[in-house]
Amino acid sequence: MTTTPESLESFLSGRWQRGEGIETTLVDPVTGDELATVSAKGLDLQGALEFARREGQRALRGLSYAARGKLVGAVADVLVANRARYEAIAIANSGNTKTDAAIDIDGGIGTLKYYARLGAGLGDAHALVDDKPARLAKAENYQAIHLMVPRRGVAVHINAFNFPSWGLWEKAAVSLIAGVPVLAKPASATALLAHAMVKDVIAAKVLPEGALSLLCGNAGALLGALTADDLVAFTGSADTAARVRGHANVIAKSVPVNIEADSINAALLAPDAAPAGAAFDAFVREVVREMTVKAGQKCTAIRRVFVPAQTTDAVADALAEKLKATKLGDPRQADTRMGPLVTRAQQAAAFDGIRRLASEATLVCGGAEPPTLDGIDRNRSAFVAPTLLKLDDASEAKAVHEVEVFGPAATIVPYGDEQDAASLIARGGGSLVASVYGEDKDFLVRMVREIAPSHGRILAVDPAIATVHTGHGIVMPQCNHGGPGRAGAGEELGGLHGLRFYHQRLAVQGSSDLIAGLQASAASLH
Ligand code: NAP
Repeated sequence: MTTTPESLESFLSGRWQRGEGIETTLVDPVTGDELATVSAKGLDLQGALEFARREGQRALRGLSYAARGKLVGAVADVLVANRARYEAIAIANSGNTKTDAAIDIDGGIGTLKYYARLGAGLGDAHALVDDKPARLAKAENYQAIHLMVPRRGVAVHINAFNFPSWGLWEKAAVSLIAGVPVLAKPASATALLAHAMVKDVIAAKVLPEGALSLLCGNAGALLGALTADDLVAFTGSADTAARVRGHANVIAKSVPVNIEADSINAALLAPDAAPAGAAFDAFVREVVREMTVKAGQKCTAIRRVFVPAQTTDAVADALAEKLKATKLGDPRQADTRMGPLVTRAQQAAAFDGIRRLASEATLVCGGAEPPTLDGIDRNRSAFVAPTLLKLDDASEAKAVHEVEVFGPAATIVPYGDEQDAASLIARGGGSLVASVYGEDKDFLVRMVREIAPSHGRILAVDPAIATVHTGHGIVMPQCNHGGPGRAGAGEELGGLHGLRFYHQRLAVQGSSDLIAGLQASAASLH
């Protein structure tokens, strides 16, 4: 007997509502089974935004940062209490292994808890000050200060398919601490987890009315209904980012937009790193981890592997050995180390990208064909084998710096000297993250300085931290997440810095008494 998959409801204007028909069917990427459907057709998005602006703002604005920190902590508690159910959803809808699911689920919960603590640290304040008062004229009692006050609109959070939990909560945590209600729109293909989590949070009644809304289905007329008070935080592909940023209403109303887009991230091995040395081993371990965790579907994953020209073959052999030994399969099997991509459309896009990379590079392992796996139907599943490519000469290659394969694929790029390495890395056009591995600290410092302008984050690994660092691709809430150029030129997280996007920053000029009064009732951002 076939059952009709559940149609996921959206939580808008304080109630669960179902759109008309089917816009997207959510599928298990191992079996091809249909899991659920989504549609936002016919939903009143303008009314939903007005409700969040009115009710959510009213409730959140009256609270201090510390009180909002308690709300965010309570959301984390609800998710912890229900965690066991989320893993099964992540396995079914995203093809996650347990490790992949933990990065998404626990990453989201951890970020909520971190911001709950930051909120507590800001105390009873209702505004932030950004610096110390400055004297503006000869008169000592005339001063200015930069104040930051929560914005009055709704934060629309549009998320990518690869982190249905972390993407939702890393944005919501910061927005709620700042006092700005959230309307979250998960990517349709993997909306099941975000839907289940929000359903639990709403049922637990830990947030005030209007503080959190959920849109399951296409964005439709959402951007057209934004006002100048609202904000958009977007994570996804550069193509969609350009459509969001270029939307006529977004431009007309000067709606602030934060973009986290795609990125061809680099890892670099130092020139003097000997095969089988500490830096070499740390490098190989991290590249393999980045290529295989979440089947390479991390915006921060290593795509370009920079190695000294004379070490190319040693690195290729070491990586290929580990990649070929990675057990690919159904994540429900205990020995599976890597699952499928989330959909067959993503699989087709990855194969297309691999073919484009292979037009300039040699295939070391993997490829642009579905792998043959025991008990898995290659016509219904979305697997891509770990795929390593190698350039013999990097000077003319273009695709490696332009094509983001959003899957388990990376290309080895040989470099000549430090300057050559730095200029090749910059050809990525701006990235979220790079990592550099070496034993010579002076080299690491030079390289960090050299490649810093085209990155939002750099991990520098010397043997002292080789086994303790948090990983190239893992976004820590203490650290900036975002990157220049192709990566979208956005900034998220980074501790208190992340609150800036949700605040209006203004200079207040007045008497020193007035400025002192404002300062006393605000918390310092530093
Ligand atoms: P996508 O196709 O660009 O979709 C991203 C989100 O935008 C989805 O929620 C999508 O909704 C929505 N969307 C699509 N068209 C829209 C429109 N016209 N107006 C408003 N929203 C619209 O990206 P994806 O395939 O989900 O994610 C993969 C990409 O995201 C990769 O390129 C990856 O590098 C990037 N990424 C970046 C980061 C980062 O932090 N920098 C993190 C993760 C992923 P529907 O699903 O309903 O179409």
